Amino acid sequence: MSSQPPHAAVLIPGPIEFDDAVLQSMGHYSESHVGPAFVAAFGETLTMTRQLFQSTDPSAQPFIVSGSGTLGWDMIGANLIEKGDSALVLNTGYFSNGFADCLKVYGADVTFVNAPVGSRPQLPEIQAALKGKNYKIITVTHVDTSTGVLSELKNLSRMVQETSPETLIIVDGVCSVACEEIAFDEWGLDAVVTASQKAIGCPAGLSISYFSGKAIETVKSRKTPVASYFANLLNWMPIMQNYENKKPSYFATPSPQLVRALNTALKQALSTPLSERFAKHKEVSDKVKEAVSDLGLKQVAGNVEDQAHGMTAIYLPDSVKATELLPILSKAGVVFAGGIHKEIQPKYIRFGHMGVSVMDPNRPEIDNAIAALKAGLTQLGYLV
Ligand SMILES: *Cc1c(COP(=O)(O)O)cnc(C)c1O
Repeated sequence: MSSQPPHAAVLIPGPIEFDDAVLQSMGHYSESHVGPAFVAAFGETLTMTRQLFQSTDPSAQPFIVSGSGTLGWDMIGANLIEKGDSALVLNTGYFSNGFADCLKVYGADVTFVNAPVGSRPQLPEIQAALKGKNYKIITVTHVDTSTGVLSELKNLSRMVQETSPETLIIVDGVCSVACEEIAFDEWGLDAVVTASQKAIGCPAGLSISYFSGKAIETVKSRKTPVASYFANLLNWMPIMQNYENKKPSYFATPSPQLVRALNTALKQALSTPLSERFAKHKEVSDKVKEAVSDLGLKQVAGNVEDQAHGMTAIYLPDSVKATELLPILSKAGVVFAGGIHKEIQPKYIRFGHMGVSVMDPNRPEIDNAIAALKAGLTQLGYLV
């Protein structure tokens, strides 16, 4: 499977399993963060980030900054929100709520468009909300990792541009970038924030984000200063531009090892057309979802068109407790995650199928996980 020491396969919605080459890049010998070799590697990584977002717009700007996915929320709040600015949050669960809480810290006046657990807000109600009030930003959680609900971005962004062209379209892509299609320029998105440890398949520790020229202009034309030092995009922008132009530059020390690992992960992700990567994630996701339904189980995301392709949230039978099943799976060499949506938390488990576990044909872990799930349920007395 890999040259790593034997371990249970980590099939949670991030961190995910690592490819050997990515992990080996973490062991890179020490180098100066302003030395020519690292500057070249960081610059190349930023350029590959543009490709990951299928973007060629020179006014758009990638940022790779030490931190977890949550730092992306702070970057949006600190830079795009001034006290009292209105934000429309499309609520699909735990992570949409977290994003909203973060925006409130920076003074946002948040309005939610809600949906029942396991579904997503629909275009007509979102449009009605946009017509009722001027919103500076609209946020959408592309895949809400608490429910496995996938939100549609293409028609949504078109509708927002027609209904409220001033509104910036902000995407939490932490659990979608590199496993769900994102065409940043074509769809007219204004910011996507993500992290290294989910479908990108790099160890945790990097916040990766992408901002449109329009979003950058919005930061530059603020009336009040950005109330964060580390998350201020204007502090990072010249640094990112210099690195991409292969010029050394310093604001705060990047992690050379993590950037090296991201460089390797992105090279792998971009070694074949992205469309093939997305199609492979869909194919494996379809297989997992079919196995789940063959076991007589339901998914949290009810409608097929709302189901993510990098994870599956599975309702357990009434007779089976997650706290009993998860340790059995772990003994069988498979790590799944428990529930985190507060309304249904004990009733479901989450199976992440992203990155190398999906893309590497020599890795048996997805099939093993399906078999282990079946065996574990049987052991707990659930008969298919
Ligand atoms: C994981 C996740 C986050 C938070 O990322 P951290 O790296 O844990 O800070 C935010 N949004 C979504 C959709 C996520 O899946």
